[in-house]
Amino acid sequence: MELQNGQYCFQGSLNPLDLIETYGSPLYVYDAARITSQYNRLVSAFSVPDLRIHYACKALTNINILRLLRQLGAGLDTVSIQEVWIGLKSGFAPNDILYTPNCVSMEEINMAVEAGVRINIDNISILEQFGHLHPDYPVCLRINPHINAGGNSKISVGHIDSKFGISIHQLPHLIKVVETLGIRIEGIHMHTGSDILDSDVFLRGAEILFQAALHFPDLDYIDFGSGFKVAYYENGVETDIEELGRNLGARFQAFCKEYGRDLGLMFEPGKFLVSDAGVFFARVNVVKTTPSTVFAGLDSGLNHLIRPMFYEAYHEIENVTNPGGKPRIYTVVGYICETDTFGVNRKIPEIREGDILAMRNAGAYCFSMASNYNSRFRPAEVLIHDGKDYLIRERETLEDLLKKQIEIPIFA
Ligand SMILES: *Cc1c(COP(=O)(O)O)cnc(C)c1O
Repeated sequence: MELQNGQYCFQGSLNPLDLIETYGSPLYVYDAARITSQYNRLVSAFSVPDLRIHYACKALTNINILRLLRQLGAGLDTVSIQEVWIGLKSGFAPNDILYTPNCVSMEEINMAVEAGVRINIDNISILEQFGHLHPDYPVCLRINPHINAGGNSKISVGHIDSKFGISIHQLPHLIKVVETLGIRIEGIHMHTGSDILDSDVFLRGAEILFQAALHFPDLDYIDFGSGFKVAYYENGVETDIEELGRNLGARFQAFCKEYGRDLGLMFEPGKFLVSDAGVFFARVNVVKTTPSTVFAGLDSGLNHLIRPMFYEAYHEIENVTNPGGKPRIYTVVGYICETDTFGVNRKIPEIREGDILAMRNAGAYCFSMASNYNSRFRPAEVLIHDGKDYLIRERETLEDLLKKQIEIPIFA
């Protein structure tokens, strides 16, 4: 969404206020062109013979987004059997889906085997059980390289105390299990966190993976995970993808020579592909002045977009109805019955009751983390594609809230 001649629009023509008129508020809107350009940017950054971009669909699981990425040539990264099923339903071939569970039951892993997808195992005890049950099924190993990375403690997953991955220090044990059970290792993987700024972190992790990879002669790919940082405001810092492409690409090619053949180079970005393609719109119900603060209270809250409250994430907030208004300082809050603050002391063009505000970077981990807390309906989602808007999810209704509730006769 861009500001053109004092008016916000998508793809040069669509007015977000018209979208609100049609689909109501609050509303999630995603720009397919932006997802496409991010995908293409990542692909162009690497010149290796076999680059595989798997979209980490937990960022945004609408089936149309999955299909768009499949059309672009992406595979899928999934973390639950339900995401696997949604991926298959979206048309991904089982071979193009990687399933990376953590602390799930063997039953769930067996379902992934039944679905025929690629499986990433992050625990030696599960690997042993898996090897006994499915001696011929190839697996990928999630290695924890123990490097510190990630924007905050909830999303840093590669450190020494992390529950993710098989510690690189357990490599000798790991090799023993693999050899004893005759397990075919087709991939090795790391994912050390989200919001990694420094491409050096990827290179340090890569060196550790390369050393481990030499112990497994049947590899098909090496998966460097994700964690690319995107800019959260104008001129905000982001991972330098082009630099990463040059450095890691060259190092990877050299490694493949040492290994003896070409391997697939895999990444599994979520945020990078969809974060800034999304905008969340909400209406200002009240403007409330207290002795210290001017609050703008929205028809939304942490039930629809929890990242500011959960991660202290920053989302740029703009006034779509009054972009030319005189800037004033506001604290933007939700309507949930606890503190749910979207932004503190933000400079925003004058806000009037009824105005529509936009929150940027609402593509990743926003709708997918939405809930029905306070018995509110989750919003509708719209996709903009080739200058046209498509409703890709209806706003919920009271029926949706009550659908799975069972009224027992004694209270009826
Ligand atoms: C969440 C996750 C990703 C995606 O991370 P982003 O920061 O959104 O790019 C990739 N791989 C795994 C295993 C994940 O859990």
